[in-house]
Amino acid sequence: DQYTANKLGSKKERTLALIKPDVVTKMGDVIDLIYSSSLIVTKAKMTTLTWSQAADFYVEHQSKPFFNNLVQFASSGPVVAMELMGDEAVSTWRRLLGPADSAAARKEAPQSIRAQFGTDVVKNVGHGSESLSAAARELEFFFPSTIGHGPPNTATFTDCTCC
Ligand code: GDP
Repeated sequence: DQYTANKLGSKKERTLALIKPDVVTKMGDVIDLIYSSSLIVTKAKMTTLTWSQAADFYVEHQSKPFFNNLVQFASSGPVVAMELMGDEAVSTWRRLLGPADSAAARKEAPQSIRAQFGTDVVKNVGHGSESLSAAARELEFFFPSTIGHGPPNTATFTDCTCC
């Protein structure tokens, strides 16, 4: 429709947005802010990651000192994964989120989502892919392109209860 067409310009990208367990109960507020921006939600799924699924998702951080904390938190309750689409979606979504540390976000980007809804650097509302290649991997993680859940994607969502 026209609303969608207006939002999707020539630099249309897709990115993966994750609403972390700390704000799943306020996901409506986060989604309102997404729709107030230039982005639209084109896929969405609520799921609870196992520890090893969260570790797979955050594999690029596996050597960081905060890796265990991050994975533990990401698998502590339901998350909402979304595909967002729009002009420069990767950088637009990260800018909407604001700095990773919610306290820093309140100082540096008071309008950002983390400034408004975040607690600290762990309970920081959301995740956004940091590049187009990361977005491709992360979208495939949550929204496998194979129809159904047979091989080769069974390793990612072995506990799917939807089919
Ligand atoms: P993001 O892409 O903005 O989410 O930030 P990063 O890619 O730098 O880090 C990924 C996630 O790791 C962040 O969202 C935080 O939840 C967590 N994180 C980053 N830095 C720290 C840190 O110094 N301490 C802790 N405990 N967690 C961190």
